[in-house]
Amino acid sequence: MRYMRPFTARSAQGLVARTYAQIKNARLKPVLRTTAPSCFAPAGRRPKAETPLPVGNARLKPVLGTIAPCSFAPAGRRPKAVGRTLWLALLLALTALATTSPQGIGGPAGCAAQAPVGKASAQADAFRYSRFTPQVIYVDGVDSTTLEIATSKAGVAEVSVLWDDAPLRLYDDRTHGDRVAGDGIYTLNGLTLDWPAGLPLPFEGVLSTNGFQVTLRHSDGSLETLYDPVLGMVRPDQRLPFVDLGSGLSATRAAFFIVDSTGQIFPNMPLTSLNDRYRPLRAAAQRLYSALPDAFDFLFVMPDARIFEPSGYGEHVPYCIMARNDVQHIGVPLFDESASFGSHGRLRAVVYHSWDIGAILDHEIGHAWGMRTGYSLGVVDSNPPPERYGHWLAQADIAGQMSQFVFSGSNVGKLTSNGDGTWRLAQQSSGTEPYSPLELYVMGLIPPEQVPPVHRLVNPNYSNPQRVTAQQVVTVTIQQIMAAEGGPRVPAYPQAQHDFRGAFIAVSDRPFTDAERAFYTLAAEFFGSSRPGKWYETPFATGTGGRASLDMRLPVFSWLYLPVIRR
Ligand SMILES: [Zn+2]
Repeated sequence: MRYMRPFTARSAQGLVARTYAQIKNARLKPVLRTTAPSCFAPAGRRPKAETPLPVGNARLKPVLGTIAPCSFAPAGRRPKAVGRTLWLALLLALTALATTSPQGIGGPAGCAAQAPVGKASAQADAFRYSRFTPQVIYVDGVDSTTLEIATSKAGVAEVSVLWDDAPLRLYDDRTHGDRVAGDGIYTLNGLTLDWPAGLPLPFEGVLSTNGFQVTLRHSDGSLETLYDPVLGMVRPDQRLPFVDLGSGLSATRAAFFIVDSTGQIFPNMPLTSLNDRYRPLRAAAQRLYSALPDAFDFLFVMPDARIFEPSGYGEHVPYCIMARNDVQHIGVPLFDESASFGSHGRLRAVVYHSWDIGAILDHEIGHAWGMRTGYSLGVVDSNPPPERYGHWLAQADIAGQMSQFVFSGSNVGKLTSNGDGTWRLAQQSSGTEPYSPLELYVMGLIPPEQVPPVHRLVNPNYSNPQRVTAQQVVTVTIQQIMAAEGGPRVPAYPQAQHDFRGAFIAVSDRPFTDAERAFYTLAAEFFGSSRPGKWYETPFATGTGGRASLDMRLPVFSWLYLPVIRR
């Protein structure tokens, strides 16, 4: 059944516009009530570094254990208290789209998400979480999905979704795909999307994600509007061959699929506790190694749904776990725990990424080297050893993938030198964001001579975000950093490894669809490409300026002679 009228060119543009509005909104989600470590996102889709919390909510503090909790992202639902501001951001995005290409939308549209967020009202809490099943569809007007909106039930009179500009009602009465009558989970099945033939999808022509507006009407007549549900979209011709490996495992040319029907990896999706952040990644890695060779430096694990903390419905956010470290003098101890993931010494790190095209993969992969070099010199925001991970201090002008953001009033950015004794708060680019020289040194991709001095600002004055000054400026050189870490990096450039292999793992609690297989495969190939960054995601090789490569092809399938798209 079709719930949409066919797209006109105008409505297609509207969908593109909402897609980009969603990108901007998708990362504007501080955790409201989760216990999961998290941080705020600066406005804009995709902060690359965990950001300091502007409000004193201890529950939202990242708890840096032995895992890098890359929590800037969408942890938790969108704050209702700032809905109006986000609406403005959305409208600004739509306005921009009317006159520019989608790529023309640059940095943050606002800074709503950094504002203190509390419960707007008791009734505003009726929304809990949303889920599309399947999570990805072909935009052919035929492939369909089911939307579920979970509410607290009490006081909810009606739930609707704005679908191609038409409000459609969801049901909680065992019709329209609803599984349990009267449980507060409102459902609508048969939702399709159409896309004009010949019009490329916004992400590399073949993919997109789109957010949808949901309205809860309360019994007292008040309305609760949010943009929580996000659906993946794939161009209809992207139907990729795959191999069934048995035991719920399958693979395409660049993605490995696990049907986790017993919840060994992500139990009870989408309400999944991740109190133990190691367990799901170890379980997923072990399943991969049961079918594929130990040939990967990095694994990237993504649930085939947005998953939420059961205790507060905050969405889980990306993080990285190092499996081993064999690099000396970068501030991380030597260790090898790769066996606990099922690798025999090859695996370097495993990344958890929330459901998405993969916007934060480039930041997370940086944590494979910890990113706490120079900690004792005060340029790193982290905990003392044995902490393995870190980010550059917001007040240091390292300005790479791994920097904390400065929040100052309505200004958010990475501290960046103007070269004249002043600094600016540089907004994050939605396109290519390169790794900084210090990061490239830590990764072994440039020699120390190419790392310029970094500066730490003491009592900075952010009143002019384009010309930041400070009471005192502390200069830290790479020679000082090397001395503090016991010497230059070993192995040094150019002997250090620079060609890497990765495997993308998607995990679902039900069989994958062709559209989902295509979505994850294409997303993985983009990250392994040397394409320019987009949607706040920079392919790894691009981020290194071509100094390193990341091959996301699954080697076991060479016998299939499948052409792998090299973009
Ligand atoms: Zn991080």
